[in-house]
Amino acid sequence: MPSLLLLAGDGIGPEIMAATKRVIEFFNAKGAGFDTVEGLVGGCAYDAEGTPFPKSTVEKAEAADAMLLACVGGPKWDDIKEYDMRPEAGLLGLRKHFELFANIRPAISYPALADSSSLKREVVEGLDIIILRELTGGVYFGEPKTIEDIGNGQKRAIDTQVYDTYEIERIARAAFDLARARRGKVTSMEKRNVMKSGILWREVVEATHRQGYEDVTLDHMLADAGAMQLVRDPKQFDVVVTDNLFGDMLSDIAAQLTGSLGMLPSASLGAVDEKTGRRRALYEPVHGSAPDIAGQGIANPIAMITSFGMALKYSFGMIAEADALDAAIADALADGIRTADIAMGGPSVDTMGMTDAILAKLEARL
Ligand code: NAD
Repeated sequence: MPSLLLLAGDGIGPEIMAATKRVIEFFNAKGAGFDTVEGLVGGCAYDAEGTPFPKSTVEKAEAADAMLLACVGGPKWDDIKEYDMRPEAGLLGLRKHFELFANIRPAISYPALADSSSLKREVVEGLDIIILRELTGGVYFGEPKTIEDIGNGQKRAIDTQVYDTYEIERIARAAFDLARARRGKVTSMEKRNVMKSGILWREVVEATHRQGYEDVTLDHMLADAGAMQLVRDPKQFDVVVTDNLFGDMLSDIAAQLTGSLGMLPSASLGAVDEKTGRRRALYEPVHGSAPDIAGQGIANPIAMITSFGMALKYSFGMIAEADALDAAIADALADGIRTADIAMGGPSVDTMGMTDAILAKLEARL
């Protein structure tokens, strides 16, 4: 039986998770047989157990096939000084514990929402690309990482960009595997013109490509030129693979192409578990806990629901069901059903109203 650990977290988390549970129940009623367990992470875990990353959550995560997390954090915990007690430490703890090295961020533009992008409709309409960001290496983790006094009132800050062959190889493989199930094209981005890590990145991506991935088209682009191309003509891409730092920025640019934060899911994947044959995986919206609207029942559940859709696709191989879910969301949006964040001042429904509309469309499709 496929199993999911549900981590509702903080702020709007419980509201959008409740919406997603209805979608899981829908698929269970059709025979999917998902077994769900709930756990605590982030601020709510700190309040209940004195830590944002409880052992009980790690144990539940180890037993589950995949994790579905809503969001963590909020003003209630802003004054916590210890870094490892802050709500975000729960999320980072999960990524680190399971070595989730591949962060997949799709940027999909629903036709009904193409006008909410800051780019022209014809540039974004029908957009469907993936930014694949290396998540556990590079300049965010490299040592030395210091600020030191160097005398005369001067200080020196040092961050270190480090990549080993195996780290580049495994993210390149993930990119080629993803592209194979899509339009078969990978664009690798680095800065080999000024960075040694860029030279090695390109070398290893090319070597990996030669080891059984030659059916996939591989292109290279300098990351700065890539940023420009992403806003000039984003539909030229299929899968973009890049390091942790460039991926952080390029995935935010790609997010803006689609218009709203409430629409964007993500997946973080690790190595294949030998026992289950499945990759370790955490699925979560890109947005945060939206404390400004928490408790009002008006949050957009689509990023959370499509995060579950990514789990259907990448953890459970339920491609037809994932496609039907995406299509049901597009159908509901095409009927003009909107939560306030995407209504552009027009009429809107609440979280459960949006969910009702998606479920009705799903019922009509399955
Ligand atoms: P945010 O993403 O929570 O909110 C930014 C804006 O987008 C807000 O106006 C919010 O109302 C709106 N918004 C976000 N998601 C929405 C949704 N589903 N429906 C409707 N509107 C939505 O970012 P922030 O305000 O910078 O951060 C708030 C808290 O979330 C902070 O504590 C931050 O640390 C945390 N955070 C958590 C994560 C995570 O859990 N992965 C990510 C980013 C921020």
